[in-house]
This record gives sequence, C-alpha cells and structure tokens, in this order.
Amino acid sequence: MRANRYSLDKLYYRDVSQKLATARELFSEHGDIFMNEAEVRIMLDNLTSLSLNLQKQMASMTMGSLCQICASKPEGGCCSAFMANETDAVLLLINLLLGIDVCPQRDDDFECCYLGPSGCTLKVKPIFCLNYNCRHILTGNGAGDLKELDKAASAVLREQTALEEVLLKTIRSL
Ligand code: SF4
Ligand code: SF4
Repeated sequence: MRANRYSLDKLYYRDVSQKLATARELFSEHGDIFMNEAEVRIMLDNLTSLSLNLQKQMASMTMGSLCQICASKPEGGCCSAFMANETDAVLLLINLLLGIDVCPQRDDDFECCYLGPSGCTLKVKPIFCLNYNCRHILTGNGAGDLKELDKAASAVLREQTALEEVLLKTIRSL
C-alpha cells in the first residue's frame, strides 16, 4: 500500500513553521479537491457564521479590552509563543479555505506568531484558545453571559472538529 504523504506527525506534531508549510502545500496542491466537496463548503459556511456569533458574544462581554489589559502587562496575555504550538496543519488549512491569508505576524519568543496588531489573525483558532476560563472573564461577567459564551464557543468547536474529520478523510486519500 502507498504511504500517505501527510502523516499525523507532519500534520500535528512538527514545529509551527513546518505545520504552516504543510497547510500551504495542501491548500495550493489540493485546495480544489476540498472545495469541490459540498459537505466541506457547507461546514465552512457554518463555521463562519458560528465564529461571527462567538465574536459578537465576546464583544458584548468586553473581552477585547479585558485581553488588551492583560497583554499590556509584563506577564502578557494568553497569546504566548507557546500557544502557537497548538496550531496544526489541518486547522491552518481550514483558515486558508476560509480565505484567510495565514501569515506569521511576528518572530519572537514571547507572543504567538499569529497575533497581529488587532488580535488573533486566524478565523478558526486552536481549541485551547477558545477556553475562556480566566478569572478576569469569570469575575467580570454574569452567569447568563458566561453560559452564552460557553454555548457559542462549544458550537464553534463542534463544527470545527467535525470539519477536521471530513478534511482528514480526504487528506488520507491523497
Ligand atoms: S483570556 Fe483572560 S487571561 Fe487571557 S488575555 Fe484574555 S483576559 Fe487575559
Ligand atoms: S488566539 Fe490566535 S493569536 Fe492567540 S494564541 Fe491562539 S492562535 Fe495565537
């Protein structure tokens, strides 16, 4: 049996720049195959509207300014260079399929390379980046808002995970 060019190691466990190179290769060489799948197109649309809904919920809870306050402190916010390791080639491929020009924004040992001047440049983020469990957010907002936030983030995660599965099936067949 022919070995697949895209091993799990290559997709998930290499360093940040290698995973980005793999995502770009998948997009440029096979992007049309993914986009020809009706299921993929529907899921990308769903993901766009669910992500927008999550953004709206975050904005209504002033999370942008809470995170900015954190980021301006010496110990920084959540978007550390370490967190960039949580991105993988399939997630980056989803961003490329959504029309995001996925590009490192910085090259330092402190912040995530996908953190731009106005925040995260990825439309679809790693699971750990959707875990808004910090005390600033938990203490600064009411139970109703937190429940809505959880609901919106979970809906994004469910669709994201399902789309990853569909894409992986196609990647395995390449
Ligand atoms: S999620 Fe919480 S800890 Fe992280 S940057 Fe935002 S406010 Fe700070
Ligand atoms: S939210 Fe975006 S910028 Fe922040 S750590 Fe996650 S991927 Fe990086």
